[in-house]
Order: sequence, then structure tokens, then C-alpha cells
Amino acid sequence: MGASNTVFESVYTTTAPLTYSRQLSRRDDWLRELGELLDFPTISAMPSHRRDIEAAADWLKNHLAMLGLHHVQVLPGVNGGHPSVYADWLLAPGQPTLLLYGHYDVQPVDPLKDWRTPPFQATRIGQNLFARGASDDKGQLFIHLKAVESYLATVGSLPINVKIWLEGEEEINSPNLPAFLDSEATRLEADAVLVSDTEMLGPGRPTIIYGLRGSLAFELEVGGPRHDLHAGRYGGAVHNPVQALCEIIAGLHDRRGRVAIPEFYARVREVAATERQELRCGSPDDEQIMADLDIPTGWGEEGYSLFERMTIRPALIVNGIGNQDRYSEARIGKAEHAACPRPGTSRNRQAFTTTYRCYKAANSLYEIEDHGWFFSSRDSSPPSYDVSRQACDLPGLGCTASFHTQRRHYPSGCISQKEVRCAGHPAWFWVAR
Ligand SMILES: [Zn+2]
Repeated sequence: MGASNTVFESVYTTTAPLTYSRQLSRRDDWLRELGELLDFPTISAMPSHRRDIEAAADWLKNHLAMLGLHHVQVLPGVNGGHPSVYADWLLAPGQPTLLLYGHYDVQPVDPLKDWRTPPFQATRIGQNLFARGASDDKGQLFIHLKAVESYLATVGSLPINVKIWLEGEEEINSPNLPAFLDSEATRLEADAVLVSDTEMLGPGRPTIIYGLRGSLAFELEVGGPRHDLHAGRYGGAVHNPVQALCEIIAGLHDRRGRVAIPEFYARVREVAATERQELRCGSPDDEQIMADLDIPTGWGEEGYSLFERMTIRPALIVNGIGNQDRYSEARIGKAEHAACPRPGTSRNRQAFTTTYRCYKAANSLYEIEDHGWFFSSRDSSPPSYDVSRQACDLPGLGCTASFHTQRRHYPSGCISQKEVRCAGHPAWFWVAR
């Protein structure tokens, strides 16, 4: 986005959209609309909700058309997957094009009895709105739509070209995303991508996410004798697979909390002191995190704060272990192996495999997920990042955005990597108050 600064200046010559968005009467209207969207049980993991997904896509299509966007359409899912919703406004010649991404599908809601309010009946309690998807990602994508509305309803145009793409299968790891991006490459071409599916550091603290940790996940199965053996008779003479698995897990970290897999950190970028300082601003300190989690002490890699361990450092996490009720088998449900912040995933995958193949007992290793990841250096961050921060410093908005990395990962991470023809750097930022 070479023209970003000029664009920035031209964008904010009017405060009319901001005033429009803050009219008190509008608040109720928008909450009602958001409530309608939240009430669709768009659980992408359950085929029984297919109709709800389609109904929500239709609702979004109508809503985008009502806002005055063009080329509004529901794009059928690739390979029988769930549909996407697309719209654009491309009447700003010579200006950059921004692709807004969001997803309207949600996670399942089991166990239902643990919900204090009905998951698909948006409920306001005080200043909060409760519903499945309210904060992931229907609420966030809605903010972008309302920003577009605020411009079109007041100025009558947008200062830049905008494309909107709302996905319907993010929560099932976007299995058809690569194929979809292949077939829609031209339609989704943009100078920058703005992903709504991120988090803020807190209320009134706009956060520009410029890095994701990403993840690799493995399932490791350890086998033993061909059939179950009586512990009283053979115990002590045969290496129990459960014990072997525990030994493998115990060997994953050293006593200083560092991952003990050779080469694990070999290609991890050390974040510069100035960047760490910037990231520290506004992030919770160790005491806050321990208080929030109600734990007496933290754990992990020495030399980094707890928040840094969760964001800028790679981690290896065991998500589950079981023996399937059989003596002769044991498995780690999911050893999550987040790799950041440099392209090191395939290399680390190899290191992981090599290391644990050495255990005679480890007879199978399944890789089950490999999510996209991205980590940009602030040293070389593109102008779009700074423009987004400046937007938050505007008079009237009254807040300053923080740059941050995000501990989470999600398939949309790969939007930026190569599939979308994005001329500039991608950005995950979310600049609502
Ligand atoms: Zn999400």
C-alpha cells in the first residue's frame, strides 16, 4: 500500500461516519441486527446445521446489499463445503484495495447445560452481549460491515476500494480454503487483507495483530506386545507403552522449561529488544496472568515473560493422553507444537519425527493438522500497519492502538501466506473500540 499515507489523509477529512456510528439510537438498531445474525445456529461441524449456514449466508448477502455494496453474492462452497459471502465496492480508482475477511460459522455448543444464556438467542446482560459467535467472529465482522455502512450512509462513498469475503467453514479448519482461494484468486485480489478474527487486549484498547504463532499438531501412538499382558505376571519385564509414552513426554522439555527437541529453536527469530518493549506495552504482566488464571506460579522458557511465552515464543503442548483401555497401546491425543516466528514448521516437523522415531516403542506418528502461521517483523512492517494505528489516534476516537502478536492460530493465517494475491503485507488488525 504505497499510497497509504495519502489515503489516510483523504479518509479522515470528515468525521461524519464516526458521528453516525455513535448515535445512540443506532446502537439499538445495530445490536438488534447483530442479534439476528447471532441467532443463526451456524455450527459448521454439524451437517444437520447446513440449512442454518445457508440461511445465515443469505442474511449476510441481503445485509451487504442493503448497505449499498456491489456484486453481492453467495459463493457456493468448493467440494460441497459451506458457502462464502462476497461483496465489494470498487469505485475509488487509483486507491488501494482492502480485502476484509471474516467467518460466520461457529463452534458447537455442547454441553448445552453449561450455558447460562441460550447460545443462539443473543442476550444482553449489562454491557455484554452473550451468544455463540458473539466474539468469534460474528461480532468482529459486524464491526467492519458497520464501518462500511457509516461511510456509505454519510459520505456516500468509501475512501478506498473494499472487498468483503465472509467464510462459512473456518471453525472446521477451512478444509476447502486452498481450493477456494485457487478458484477465486482474481476476485479476492487485494493490496492488503484485514482479518476481523482476532482479539483486543481489552475494552478501549484497539489492537493491531501482526503475528500469529501458528501450529502443527501430531498424534503419537506407542505400541507394545501384540496382545495384552498380565501386569502381575509380566510387569517389570516388558516396557509398558503408557510408561514409554510418559517418558517421551517427559523428555520434550528440559528443566528450564525449554523444548528439548534438537534444532527446535534453530530458525526462530529472536524478537528485538525494542520490539519486545513495544509488545510489553499494554500486555498483562506475570502477576496479572497468574491472578487471572488463579495459579500460584507460571511455567516455561526462562528469560521471557509469561505473555511472551504465549505469543512470541514457540511452545510444545500436550493436549491429551490415553491408552484406549489397552495395555499394548498408548497415545498422546495431540501434541501441539507451535512453531514461530520463522518458516521452520517443516523443519521442526522433521526434527520431531526423527527424535521420536528413535524410541523403539513409538511405532506411529500421525500429523493431524498443520495450520498457517505468520509473523512479521515490526522493523519491516508495511505502511498499512502504521496507518491503522494512526486511525486510532484520531481526535474523537480517544485511544491508541497497540501492536501485538496473537497466541491463537487459525486457518485464515494462510490467507496471507501465498494463496491470496496480496501485493502488500497482510495485516490482522482489529481497530474497534
Ligand atoms: Zn474465529
